[in-house]
Amino acid sequence: MSTRAAASSPPAVWVDLPKNPAPIRRPTIVPVFLPHAGCPHRCVFCNQIAITGQADGDPAPDLPALMARFLKEKPRSPQHVELAFYGGNFLGLPPHRIQSLIAAARELVREKWIGSVRFSTRPDTIDAQRLGWIAGSPVGTVELGGQSMDEAVLAASGRGHTARDTALAVHRLKRAGFRVGIQTMIGLPGQDNRSALISAGQFATLEPDFVRIYPCLVITGSPLAADYRRGGFRPLSLDAAVATCARLWRVFARRNIPVIRMGLQASAELSDGAHVLAGPYHPAFGHLVFSALCREALVRGLRRLPAAGRTVRITAHPRRLSQVRGLGNANLAALTDRFALAGIRISSDPDGPLHRLGIALE
Ligand code: SF4
Repeated sequence: MSTRAAASSPPAVWVDLPKNPAPIRRPTIVPVFLPHAGCPHRCVFCNQIAITGQADGDPAPDLPALMARFLKEKPRSPQHVELAFYGGNFLGLPPHRIQSLIAAARELVREKWIGSVRFSTRPDTIDAQRLGWIAGSPVGTVELGGQSMDEAVLAASGRGHTARDTALAVHRLKRAGFRVGIQTMIGLPGQDNRSALISAGQFATLEPDFVRIYPCLVITGSPLAADYRRGGFRPLSLDAAVATCARLWRVFARRNIPVIRMGLQASAELSDGAHVLAGPYHPAFGHLVFSALCREALVRGLRRLPAAGRTVRITAHPRRLSQVRGLGNANLAALTDRFALAGIRISSDPDGPLHRLGIALE
């Protein structure tokens, strides 16, 4: 297995990955975690303090110092910097806390440290009164924890809201002029592949500006951890989670909806093994999904060629090369084995389209 700088003869077969959705404006996000703040519920998978590694508290007085530290390390122009309140249910906070955080954020905009604000919140907090609280504020984007559109799955996950709440919330937010992101989960209690795919289709129909896909993990201290220890809940394996996520990615790609994250952001808390009891956590989960998409496309192409016993050359855009190879060259090993290849060479084609892979026999 080797990499060559350029292809010497044109590939015999081209295969396409689902085209990357249109790029969205990607600001630099400065996250501020409000673990479980403003949330009256207890979703079975949730232990925000374990995930974020932070206890609750009022961050408003500390925001200027946080921004000063951030901008010292990563100078950015303010229009590209977005302050994000994550980890809780922002619009479920008492009004005085929302007002205090918004006022602090407004000050950061006035000081030209940030351009805008986003937060995550539950779908059932989006009503006219609460939207009134953030009207005219620097909030530009709202991320909704939708998770599933399957009522049985929502109930089994202890979400405490319905699919209709999510649909209404997206509608109201869009009408009020906010950009909307939907966070969706796979491997939830009572959720099979079919349910996850149907939910993805329903989320796509709502036309959010972007989505995030998270595999359900068994986090220490969550209700799901107790169920797991009793032998009840069984999380997805890593392979199954990657395969399901790849199918969801295709659903959103077909509707031109950007998937801006797959898998939880790697952190010391998640990586040290003390907080994730079980489940498909991997620090490079998104890379695994794109590798799976590349492998499936290459399988499709190789089926059309008399490749057994031959050396195959795969041509890809430089940004795709590591995904074509797979983690630790896993894709190359799997393809070599499956098609009884003599070997695989990789060619980089910086001028080729990002979504296209070429396959040739040498
Ligand atoms: S809505 Fe669920 S996941 Fe979000 S903070 Fe509340 S309990 Fe946790």
